Amino acid sequence: MRATENPLPTLFEISQPGREGVEAPPIPDGLPELDDCLSGVKLRQSALNLPEVGELDGVRHYTRLSQRNMSIDTEFYPLGSCTMKYNPRINEAIASLKGFSQAHPLAKEEEIQGWLAVFFQLQQILAEVSGLPHVSLQPAAGAHGELTALMMFKAYHEEHHPNEKNVILIPDSAHGTNPSSCTIAGFKTREVKSGGDGTVDMESFREALKDDVAGMMITNPNTLGIFEPQIAEISEALHSVDAFLYMDGANMNAIMGITRPGDFGVDVMHYNLHKTFSTPHGGGGPGAGPIACTDKLEPFLPVPRIEEVSSQQNGLSPTYRLSQDHPSSIGKVRTHFGNSGILLRALVYALAHGPEDLKQVSQIAVLNANYIRKRLEGEFHLPFSTDCMHEVVFTARHQKAFGARALDIAKRLIDLGYHPPTIYFPLVVHEALMIEPTETETLQTLDSFCDAMLQIAEEAKQNPELLQNAPQLQPVKRLDEVQAVKSPILVCPCDTE
Ligand SMILES: *Cc1c(COP(=O)(O)O)cnc(C)c1O
Repeated sequence: MRATENPLPTLFEISQPGREGVEAPPIPDGLPELDDCLSGVKLRQSALNLPEVGELDGVRHYTRLSQRNMSIDTEFYPLGSCTMKYNPRINEAIASLKGFSQAHPLAKEEEIQGWLAVFFQLQQILAEVSGLPHVSLQPAAGAHGELTALMMFKAYHEEHHPNEKNVILIPDSAHGTNPSSCTIAGFKTREVKSGGDGTVDMESFREALKDDVAGMMITNPNTLGIFEPQIAEISEALHSVDAFLYMDGANMNAIMGITRPGDFGVDVMHYNLHKTFSTPHGGGGPGAGPIACTDKLEPFLPVPRIEEVSSQQNGLSPTYRLSQDHPSSIGKVRTHFGNSGILLRALVYALAHGPEDLKQVSQIAVLNANYIRKRLEGEFHLPFSTDCMHEVVFTARHQKAFGARALDIAKRLIDLGYHPPTIYFPLVVHEALMIEPTETETLQTLDSFCDAMLQIAEEAKQNPELLQNAPQLQPVKRLDEVQAVKSPILVCPCDTE
């Protein structure tokens, strides 16, 4: 059970002057005094206002805080678009091995051959799953992968069509990171409408496709959980004006092992390893957003690249080196090799599954989403009638008629012991409730979640106030979001003394 003591005192409130958690050992004889090392450096004159607590106080404080959090380890977490699947503990055990976790980021090539082998193997697997031969592991998140690829588009077009191509096409159902990455990369965006079935409207696409188009970003399956059947045709049309097709690969959990973006005309894509390939996320990172691309875009990939120098074929164990010799490269996008611990976890996940099981991951993820779709479609409105892929988008239209909105349903779910689904996204769907179960949940868990949703649908009819006032059983009730925006408290009160 989650600790419900409320409010949980802050560390500052339990602080006692002079209490210490650990005692630093004295500086050994012969070492210079700290002040001498720092002479000439401007030092802070007043003491840092830090809480003074014993070790046990600190342990209990953070353990209690962690118990108040919803996580994939404690609750079903059907947060659409985020693929909150179980993270196998073997990944953690291997990422903690000293040879990996204690390697220095500036170690020489020959000292980190094991790490380079990890990166190289992961690149090969990601190339195979995407059908795109070249991979960079540097981007630290999906959005960062988007930016990296857009910078590569820019570099290509500057070489081939200077000042001519400055527009990226984006469907109206896209994730917010897509247009924001375009803006950061210095492109303008042009919106493409979705048709009545939730996929790209081809007429709107053809109207938007002019000579100034540098590329298009498509999420496939799209953010409505629907596969874009016209993707190959879209790719061909883009290529006819020397524009690129970027695929936001956040939804690879629906198609991994079944179809390959490279085969349906994608030029470059990102993976969210922290979604499709497990690895923890949800606290804001760290993540990893590797990109995979075609031969045409390869010269622009970030450096350093990892190259295999000798392979097992000639009787030597493979060795790897880092190569900077790529004059068209956009350069580095991340210090060292990216978030290496996440990359290692993803490799362990891929190897532990093998090709057949990775395919089964997608199949079960799609089956689970359609199971939920069928169980809930009688009570919750479906904006699109097509079968879904790995996530299903409902709306709260029926419940809103009784005064309960998507937000109220989400808050009520918390009291019933479930993390809420994604709500109000994608933006093209009013009162959206976007549910992604992933493949890692049992039939029993899916059923009890559906039971809870059906109970909420009934409550919306009988007692909508119950939903409007939820959550009631949590240490923190509904937050006043208007006040939080209008008068945010951004400084710890103790720092203002
Ligand atoms: C999660 C997600 C992103 C962004 O990925 P981050 O790793 O959070 O930067 C982009 N597009 C879609 C569709 C996503 O679901």
